[in-house]
Order: sequence, then structure tokens, then C-alpha cells
Amino acid sequence: MTELLATRGLETGYGTMQVLWGVDIDVGESETVVLLGSNGAGKTTLMKCLLGLLPQRGGEIRFRGESIGRLPTRARVQRGLAFMSELGVFPDLTVDENIDLGALFTPRARARTRAAELYDLFPVLKEKRRQAAGGLSGGQRKMLGIAKALAGDPKLLVMDEPSAGLSPLFVATVIRSLAACRAGGLSLLIAEQNVKFLELGDRVFTLEGGRIRFGGTPAEIQADDGLRRAYFGLGQDDPGQPDRGQAHDVRT
Ligand code: ATP
Repeated sequence: MTELLATRGLETGYGTMQVLWGVDIDVGESETVVLLGSNGAGKTTLMKCLLGLLPQRGGEIRFRGESIGRLPTRARVQRGLAFMSELGVFPDLTVDENIDLGALFTPRARARTRAAELYDLFPVLKEKRRQAAGGLSGGQRKMLGIAKALAGDPKLLVMDEPSAGLSPLFVATVIRSLAACRAGGLSLLIAEQNVKFLELGDRVFTLEGGRIRFGGTPAEIQADDGLRRAYFGLGQDDPGQPDRGQAHDVRT
């Protein structure tokens, strides 16, 4: 595996409260990594720290072989990191304007080509390109969030709970969209509570109380009785093996 992103001993917090304690995670080139953790585990805090939206207090963040922990957010984005927050889009702006904003640091000609590619990937967004993002369905809004994050042509898309607020049907749609992006070579780091996303994952880390407890494959997490109970609510004899996701065409 060629290293794309790595954190070593990452620490941060808010005021006097320390939230992350010596966090080590890795994402390889073209790899999808799922960061599983319950409410308050520190997932959002870790994502913000990776993007420089929250300063780190210790440890190191490496991206494409460079130590980026002291760079401002803009410089990290320009090096190929993109972030999709839980909200993901600006509801008062149109679909077009949201995608435009996602390409803020990209040369105009490249941004236009990229927008056309994204509308091919998400035709439903093309139909609604002049509508306000707030009027889209939950699933379409997430697709727009993904398209906006991809508009800057990132190497790695860091996503904070893409399933938040979505019905199971829309979760499946979002997983299909991400599988299509992944098939195109994009690397993904997905923070989630929803184990359905393990379908996409090459590897998974679990975050508990700001510490990494487990790092391995989705099959390995299934093989550990304690972790299976914690994350799947299933005991040894229960079925619950997540299927490996297929790279479906999101237009279907
Ligand atoms: P959730 O799924 O609920 O978003 P999470 O795993 O993303 O959970 P974080 O949002 O990173 O968790 O929160 C980790 C801890 O940091 C929690 O104890 C939370 O209360 C605290 N925290 C988060 N944001 C802030 C903030 N801006 N100021 C102070 N404490 C915060």
C-alpha cells in the first residue's frame, strides 16, 4: 500500500478538554477507510484537525509524503484534501453555485470540465442545476455534497457521517454514488456510525473516547466478538456479515 494520508500520535481538543489521544490512522492510495465511532467519540474533531479547521496540539499529519499539520486549510485543500461536512451544502445557493464553490481553488477552465464530469456522474443534479440546494431531497443533497467536494479534483475525500439524516433508501443511494467514485480511483476516509458503510471499506478503524481501539479489515472486525457486539449489536452466532459493495452506476 502506498501511503496517502497518515496521522501519528495526533492530539487535539477544545479549551482545557483534550479530545484526541495519540491517534494513528492511515489511508493508502485509492483506498477507502471507514472510521467507526459512536456519538462523541471524536470523529468530527479528527476530520476538522486533518483539514486544519482545528489546530493540532501534538503528533503529525502526513499527506502525500509531506507534513501538513502546520499548513492552513487552503494549502491542504490545494494539495488534494477535500472535506464534506454533515451538512455538506449551502441550502440557499443553487446546485450550480454549490459546485462552483467547491472548485474555489481550481483554475476556471479545469473547474468547468470537472463540473461537466460531475453532472455526468450525477444526472439528477444536472436536471436541477438552477434550483436551490435546500429544495433537493435528502439523498440528492448528499450527492450534491459529494459533487461539491469533488469539484476541486481532490486525491482524498474526507467525509463526516454521510448517512446523517438519511433514510436507509438514501443511504444505499449514497453508498452506490461513493462506490462509483471509488471505482474511478478516488481515496475516501469516511467517518460513520452506520456499519452499512463497511461495504465500501478496504480497512476500518474504530475510535472510542478519542483513541483508536481497532484497525484492520471489515472481515477482522466481524471476527472479533466484542467489536461485533459493540458495532453490529450481534453475538457470535448471529448473521451480520456485511456484503462487499459493488461499483454500481449511480445513474441507474
Ligand atoms: P457525533 O457523531 O455526535 O458528531 P463525533 O464522534 O463526531 O460525534 P465530536 O463531535 O468530535 O464527536 O466530539 C468529541 C468530543 O468533543 C465530545 O465530547 C464533544 O462534546 C466535544 N466537542 C465537540 N465540538 C466541540 C466544541 N466546539 N467545543 C467544545 N467541545 C466540543
